[in-house]
Amino acid sequence: MQLLANKVAFVTGGGNGIGKAISVALAREGAVVGIADLDVASAASVRDEIREEGGRCLVFQANVTNREEIERCIGEMITEYGTIDILINNVGGTIRKPMIEFSEEEWDSIIDINLKSTFLCSRIAGKVMLKQKSGVVINISSIHSLGGIPRRSPYATAKSAINSFTRTIACEWAADGVRMNAVVPGYILTDGLDYAFKEGSLNRQDMERRTPQGKLGTPQDIADAVVFLASDKARYITGTTLYVDGGYSA
Ligand code: NAD
Repeated sequence: MQLLANKVAFVTGGGNGIGKAISVALAREGAVVGIADLDVASAASVRDEIREEGGRCLVFQANVTNREEIERCIGEMITEYGTIDILINNVGGTIRKPMIEFSEEEWDSIIDINLKSTFLCSRIAGKVMLKQKSGVVINISSIHSLGGIPRRSPYATAKSAINSFTRTIACEWAADGVRMNAVVPGYILTDGLDYAFKEGSLNRQDMERRTPQGKLGTPQDIADAVVFLASDKARYITGTTLYVDGGYSA
């Protein structure tokens, strides 16, 4: 039996990396998936992959730091499929450099991509979920939310705020049947991380050494956790931060 049969899901940044694995995994469990991404070509190839497997998927070219663009996407999802049951706030990104070298514009852009997008999408989808008295929101955080790793100050700040936002909104919405949880990935081997290894800005062996399981995670490891939290198997779980990090945070 599919865990998410006929649920309507909206995934931000579903065109690449972790968001791509999440989108495909949700569709395999029977959900209709809407993907919002700046990179529409990658998102379209994820849509094609989902459709080839018999799933349903819509793609939107949108910047999810922009309220009007999110309203447009979610509005179209509702017109097409009637509602939104699952929101995955996956979009995120960082710039690595010392805090004193960040310009205000760079600081704001990292906070916006990670945190403001999560607030805006949750507010817009949350209104629908609260009205129908059901829904699930999953925020993709990071082990950097724990702090303590230099050169990522706005990213660590935003991800730590996402953990707090998750607990706060979970309590605000719990009595209305809407759950919110965060998944906290460790080091996950995406194309972006692989590129950073190749250009020498990050060291793979160093990351593996810092992870008790001694290996990097895969996007599928995160997608499996997201499917569980989105499903009714997690019906009594809200406000939690689920670490999927090979023991990094233990
Ligand atoms: P990625 O860079 O591979 O993919 C991000 C996707 O988001 C891309 O398709 C990009 O086009 C899209 N995007 C970026 N800004 C956007 C915007 N404003 N509007 C719409 N789309 C936008 O990222 P990833 O490595 O798969 O990371 C996904 C999430 O997981 C992020 O929140 C990231 O912080 C988190 N994370 C990743 C890792 C890791 O090791 N890769 C570890 C911890 C947490």
